[in-house]
Order: sequence, then structure tokens, then C-alpha cells
Amino acid sequence: MKSDWRIAGWQPVSLIDYPGKAATVIFMAGCNWRCHYCHNPQLWYSQANNLPFSNVLHYLRTNRSLLDGVVISGGEPTLCPYLPSILRAIKQLNLAVKLDTNGSRPAVVRRLVRAKLVDFVALDLKAPASKHVALTGRPMAAVLLTARWLKAQTAVPYLFRTTLSPRLTLSDLHTIGTEMVNGATTWQIQQCRCPGAYSAQKVCEFATLLKKYAQDVVVRGL
Ligand code: SF4
Repeated sequence: MKSDWRIAGWQPVSLIDYPGKAATVIFMAGCNWRCHYCHNPQLWYSQANNLPFSNVLHYLRTNRSLLDGVVISGGEPTLCPYLPSILRAIKQLNLAVKLDTNGSRPAVVRRLVRAKLVDFVALDLKAPASKHVALTGRPMAAVLLTARWLKAQTAVPYLFRTTLSPRLTLSDLHTIGTEMVNGATTWQIQQCRCPGAYSAQKVCEFATLLKKYAQDVVVRGL
């Protein structure tokens, strides 16, 4: 029932969250991680999904001609049991869908891509295996599976994203590059907005030193 599908929030239009597209951004609450720099702790618990999705659907129908796509962000959207239903409703409007994920549920990502419910995946690579629990509260193994699968498939474009926590060293970034990024199409390095964060100049310096790991290494958030 569409009336029962609840979301935590939405932004009618963004020009920066879906590469090359004007998109509505939907935030789904519920997250299985606890990153130390998380800017959305209010989205950690699924009880924060208290807005009807039908409002967004009405907006998407009314403004269809102005939009290219929808970004599904969070929290961690792959935890939501009715996410496929929401995506089906969006795809019926012939809108492109970008999924933002922490990669903790590789089987869900695979299923959504294979069902053609997702057209673009942005995967967060938050830390190397040795620091993953310290930075996110959970181990890295599932993320590695998601990263490997995305690199091996050709159905949808993807990008990897790393937020430059001040707890990550350049050596950690090289380890992420070797463990997970190696051979990827795009690796996006983002400045962290937290106390002690690296300067914009340092972020750019690091990005330059990491160019060998992906076809394109880009910086965002400066
Ligand atoms: S995965 Fe995202 S939403 Fe979850 S704790 Fe980390 S930064 Fe916050």
C-alpha cells in the first residue's frame, strides 16, 4: 500500500547529487552503522520514516518534465523492506534512480540493479579493513563484496566515495585504494565536515596522490 510507505525526508530538486541530472533526493531512515562524523544521526532509526511517500510521488508526477531522476539516500536505504516498491513506483514515471549506499548489503544492491530498479550506484568506502570498526562500528567485509561486484558488472555506472575523516591517514587511503578502489571508474574524495578535518589543500593533495587507483579521481565538498 503506497499510503504505508514512509520516508524520513526529501529535497524537491538537487543539481549536485545525481551526476548530470536534476533530481529529487529522498532520505530513508534506518542505518546499521555509526560513523563518527555522521551528519544524519536523526536518520539512524527507522522510526524517523514518518512522512508519506505519496507526497513525493504526487510531486514527481506534477513536475515530471522538470526532473531527470531521483536519488535514494539515507540513513542506509537498502535496509528498508519496502524500498523495491518505492523504486517501482518511481520507475513507472520513467525517472532514473541513483542509490546511495554504505555497501553493507551487497545482495540487495545486486537484486535492485538486476531488477532494473536502480540506474546508478554511489558506494561509500569509509575506511580500510583495519580501521573500519573504529570509524563505522561495523567490519568491512560486505563493502568489499559490493565494491567487487560493482566493478565487475556493466549494467549501471557507479562511483566510489570516501569522506576524509581526520582519523584516516594517507597510508589508509592507499590501503582503501589497493583493497577496494583499484581499477574502478570513479573515486570521489570528500572533505569531512567535523572537528580536525583536513584542509581543502590537503584533500586536493591527497586526491592527486591517489590518481592511480581509478580512471577518474575527483574532489567534492570543498
Ligand atoms: S553510513 Fe551514513 S547514515 Fe549511517 S552512520 Fe555512516 S554516515 Fe551516518
